[in-house]
Amino acid sequence: ERGDRSEEQVSGAKVVAQALKTQGVEYVFGIVGVPVTEIAVAAQGLGIWYIGMRNEQAACYAASAIGYLTGRPGACLVVSGPGLIHALGGMANANMNCWPLIVIGGSSDRSQETMGAFQEFPQVEACRLYSKFSARPSSIEAIPTIIEKAVRSSIYGRPGACYVDIPADFVNLEVNANSIKYVECCMPPPVSMAETSAVRMAASVIRNAKQPLLVIGKGAAYARAEESIRKLVEQCKLPFLPTPMGKGVVPDNHPNCVRAARSRALQFADVIVLFGARLNWILHFGLPPRYQPDVKFIQVDICAEELGNNVRPAVTLLGDINAVTKQLLEQFDKTPWQYPPESTWWKTLREKMKSNEAASKELASKISLPMNYYTVFYHVQEQLPRDCFVVSEGANTMDIGRTVLQNYLPRHRLDAGTFGTMGVGLGFAIAAALVAKDRHPGQRVICVEGDSAFGFSGMEVETICRYNLPIILLVVNNNGIYQGVDASSWKEMLNFREAAAMAPPFCLLPNSHYEQVMTAFGGNGYFVQTPEELRKSLRQSLADTAKPSLINIMIEPQAMRKAQDFHWLTRSNM
Ligand code: ADP
Ligand code: MG
Repeated sequence: ERGDRSEEQVSGAKVVAQALKTQGVEYVFGIVGVPVTEIAVAAQGLGIWYIGMRNEQAACYAASAIGYLTGRPGACLVVSGPGLIHALGGMANANMNCWPLIVIGGSSDRSQETMGAFQEFPQVEACRLYSKFSARPSSIEAIPTIIEKAVRSSIYGRPGACYVDIPADFVNLEVNANSIKYVECCMPPPVSMAETSAVRMAASVIRNAKQPLLVIGKGAAYARAEESIRKLVEQCKLPFLPTPMGKGVVPDNHPNCVRAARSRALQFADVIVLFGARLNWILHFGLPPRYQPDVKFIQVDICAEELGNNVRPAVTLLGDINAVTKQLLEQFDKTPWQYPPESTWWKTLREKMKSNEAASKELASKISLPMNYYTVFYHVQEQLPRDCFVVSEGANTMDIGRTVLQNYLPRHRLDAGTFGTMGVGLGFAIAAALVAKDRHPGQRVICVEGDSAFGFSGMEVETICRYNLPIILLVVNNNGIYQGVDASSWKEMLNFREAAAMAPPFCLLPNSHYEQVMTAFGGNGYFVQTPEELRKSLRQSLADTAKPSLINIMIEPQAMRKAQDFHWLTRSNM
């Protein structure tokens, strides 16, 4: 029993790092400081990617995007108190999006608990509201078990955030290496299938639909159900509508994609199959007037508690989307069926798509300066590589950009998501760039930001430059939040002290040179005002695979969306 190893000592920091490594965690994002620096160093020593960020919120966003993109959680490492509190935004966002994430928080020394220790805060309790699992190991020996449980909980069932608290006194405490038992890497989530009778009933409801619609959500993207869903779309010739991050599960340019007739499709469908998309605000709760009062919903979800939220579904299919879609396909293999391509439903949808696309094209072709959103996105779309990741946030920037910028691959769009969070863009872009580097060499990351959205995490440009990630940031700059004013109106306001004090709350400083944030750290910066300048700078940015770029695109400060058919679309941000 008493071999050489019995003398070997290991620190708590090393145990945390080894447990993360054993559970297959490949990336750790964070900001070091007392008491977690040693954990970051130990992780790096084991070949885990450690990415030092500039704010814990952005670090947490980045880690959560790793979970969505790879199906295994990334980790976010933060210091006690304020560090952990900054990360709560990222945890909440991950949990709302149903994305796996591990947050490791250093906490104050156990012997000083309740004494007013440095950065003391009830961290385990605080995280409970933002996570599926929140715990502190009772000893160094218990760290591997708790980390395995956190990783497992983050990916089993409905994915989400998990928190592990590491007291400061664990970090440097050394214990006998023999006393640590690392728990084997947790298995991939078990695949669950829907009840056969429910699958049969769903198939029959679909067969009898007059105006069917498939809605593809980010749950389908997360479930890697692209192949089976595409097969279902093509075999049964069904129209489909992706949610914002469901874009790309089946390519946006697929002939059955009815994105350009979104409102129409939702409003008049009589059967809607939801593949990993909740009936929350994004889908207008599934209620009239956005839907028919008697629309039949078929819900496919891994989370039983989700089924029946806001509507009474016709059929519920509880299970993994990929497995359940294959079950549906079996039904249509047994008794082949196709939705008739000559139906009036298809005709209605096609006509609406045509007129909506024409309206966008018209706006895009406006040659007046400053540019409007449509002109900008039209020119960006022309040069976007098909396989790129598109990260986007902002109000109009994100909403209009989503309609023009196409996705052809699953899990290649990241945006403000279920929680509508602003500030996620740069963290997401950093995560996507790392995933591209390791798993999809050559793929680029284009991060399309509003000027306000950019401000929330702007200093992460330094992180991008430090790790030399060739991300292209587009800042669509209208001098404000939703809208701004031009430089001369701003100057006029400044001339009247009173008026300046009352500058509209949505205004940001006109003509801000955000591109200089990028040049400050050695990246390429462009300030563009015309379509020609935009095209040229984007071409140069795409050609430079060694360096990040930021293109600051000035648009009309009062530029708005195209006219909407429905009054509710002019107010909501959908
Ligand atoms: P969107 O924002 O695209 O509408 P949501 O985030 O609202 O999508 O919905 C995603 C849904 O997908 C969640 O209800 C989640 O439980 C579900 N989900 C996640 N992974 C799976 C899976 N593997 N199989 C089935 N459902 C899943
Ligand atoms: Mg703006």
